[in-house]
Amino acid sequence: MASGKTNSNVAETTRTCVIGAGIGGLSLALRLQAAGVPTVLIEAREAPGGLIRSWQRDGFTFEAGPAAISDPAPLRELWSLTGEDLADAVQLIELEHDWRCSWPDGTQIDLPADPARLARIAPDDLPGYDDFVSWCESARIDGWERLARQPQGSALALIDALRPLLRHQGWRSPAGLAAQLVKQPHLRQALAFPVLLGGASPLTTSALNLIGQIPPAPGRGWWPQGGMNRLIAAMTRRFDRLGGTLRLHDPVVRLDSVGNRITEVECASGWRAPVTQVASNADVVHTYRDLLGTSQRGAEMGRKLANRQFSPSAFTVHFALEGSWPGIPHRSVLFGPRFEGFIEDVFTHGVLPQDLMIFLAHPSLSDPSLAPSGKSVFSATVLVANLGKLPLDWDAIGKLLEQRILAEIGRRLVPDIADRLIARFHTSPRDMALDFNAWLGAGWSLAATPGQSGPLRPHARDGKIANLYLVGAGTHPGAGLAAVMAGAKATADLMLEEHR
Ligand SMILES: Cc1cc2nc3c(=O)[nH]c(=O)nc-3n(C[C@H](O)[C@H](O)[C@H](O)COP(=O)(O)OP(=O)(O)OC[C@H]3O[C@@H](n4cnc5c(N)ncnc54)[C@H](O)[C@@H]3O)c2cc1C
Repeated sequence: MASGKTNSNVAETTRTCVIGAGIGGLSLALRLQAAGVPTVLIEAREAPGGLIRSWQRDGFTFEAGPAAISDPAPLRELWSLTGEDLADAVQLIELEHDWRCSWPDGTQIDLPADPARLARIAPDDLPGYDDFVSWCESARIDGWERLARQPQGSALALIDALRPLLRHQGWRSPAGLAAQLVKQPHLRQALAFPVLLGGASPLTTSALNLIGQIPPAPGRGWWPQGGMNRLIAAMTRRFDRLGGTLRLHDPVVRLDSVGNRITEVECASGWRAPVTQVASNADVVHTYRDLLGTSQRGAEMGRKLANRQFSPSAFTVHFALEGSWPGIPHRSVLFGPRFEGFIEDVFTHGVLPQDLMIFLAHPSLSDPSLAPSGKSVFSATVLVANLGKLPLDWDAIGKLLEQRILAEIGRRLVPDIADRLIARFHTSPRDMALDFNAWLGAGWSLAATPGQSGPLRPHARDGKIANLYLVGAGTHPGAGLAAVMAGAKATADLMLEEHR
């Protein structure tokens, strides 16, 4: 554990504290420290990164969380603020495709789509596909980025947020937008699914949420050499070099307040520090209910937030195979026979679907450093309902689902998978809840429903506790790397205003 800067269990000098070192907390702490605000970043777990975590086993690096970076621009901007170039800290590998989409009937669509290949599958849809790409580009520049950067909290900000929504018809869902532009059923699914990576339903969320998941044209996505864990390590190193203090493996257990201000933060080890500003990157229900539960505001907000709709969770099988698999791209989606029905099962009905939609990551294809020579590393993720909707005994069901997923990959891609498996393990919604204090084990915090999106999510600054700020997936503008990093900028702007 990194310790505070004093020998005593009570730090005298701490003024600004960030709770949680997920990508949101790290981005915020870096921004504050780079602006000259001495910042203490406190993380419950033994390593920073939050959902972006990795395991080193027998020469393999198994990675959890996003399998690619859609747009490195926010990272470059963050690095430039700290006086360094991102390229000096992390080498980004451009992927050959963003996604390969495949279906049990043998249809295959690579994204971004090659016009000649698309013409064979969906000859009438080339103009519609081009319109989709153009819509994404104009919405990115004009809509989503502006919305994401908006420090919110005022009626003016809310009205401003409606402008891009109107201009780009943001009330349409991704599935609705795709259905308007193209006819071929598989292509419709391929254009709509990416919001699932942000924990949102393609049937109900705003199509503007696609922008956080689709790389700017030509749209191939990026992978940090050595894994996402290298990116986190580089961010942590940069924070340290700028003079920030990181406390690891020491969960915050209490935030004391007097009147409408938090005065002190207390960790499980007994370490305490006076604070003038606190930002929480921890789950929003955990922040209010558990950390601020003794205050009236904490108890009230904890109750209110716990009753809102939460995103699904995720079940991931990490596995290593004997052999090299050049035919399996860095990221693919193995769609099942159903699309709408599958999504409704997970998001609405809260049942474990009979069929599977698998997000398969094969990072050792683009980055051989992740596996010993002649071997490969994969992760296969399926969305499952959160623990509130589907309170399964994951200890019992996990092994069975792991087998079902591996069997499906065997049927579709690796016929002799059973003979080639070198290692395998899984993580379930239960791990999400226990490891990260995630309410109901939700993988993306509050669901991105129309009534809980953008400015309608909890704001970057609490409405009543004057020095409490929020950052991360549960707050404005939402979950996913791009959104969380944009939110960190909005939160940092508000916090820095107090210092001016
Ligand atoms: C399976 C999966 C796949 C995904 N794929 C993609 C993708 O392809 N593209 C994309 O854009 N997004 C993806 N996401 C979403 C993205 O990973 C998250 O939205 C993002 O990482 C959330 O970051 P965060 O900082 O908000 O929260 P977290 O990563 O959850 O970090 C919160 C941190 O707070 C810490 N904490 C909690 N309680 C305390 C406490 N009491 N004291 C101190 N610390 C505490 C936790 O330990 C954790 O480190 C995926 C998510 C999942 C689950």
